[in-house]
Amino acid sequence: MVLKFPDSMDECVYFTRRVMDNGKTIAWVFKEECPKCKKALMSKPKDAKTGKAKIRAIEYVCPACNYTVEKKEYEDTLTCNIQYTCPSCQHKSEVQVPFIRKSYKGAKAVIFPCEKCETKIAVTKKMKALKEK
Ligand SMILES: [Zn+2]
Ligand SMILES: [Zn+2]
Repeated sequence: MVLKFPDSMDECVYFTRRVMDNGKTIAWVFKEECPKCKKALMSKPKDAKTGKAKIRAIEYVCPACNYTVEKKEYEDTLTCNIQYTCPSCQHKSEVQVPFIRKSYKGAKAVIFPCEKCETKIAVTKKMKALKEK
């Protein structure tokens, strides 16, 4: 499988790069187009004053037709693209998994098995990864 890399962060709902002891993962989730009008990508609403996206908003809005969907409901339908080097067998691969975050050591993580050795690899939020060091 050859995954498409994002050209810019604006295309992504989520992007993280993690380096573990013997492996690494890069994970990203593309924004998807509005299910109603299909004219624009669903995005976080923008602050009317600053024009910046409200990162903490709990919904996504279509900039073309204003269709609004709750954050979790929207994110659960997305696909997470992952490029990884397995920390246990060094297998390198690319996978696509549903963007569903489960609890992992007190953090929310996308968890997927290595294609080769089936070791479970967790992609946690970047903030959490930094704190672990
Ligand atoms: Zn729309
Ligand atoms: Zn492996």
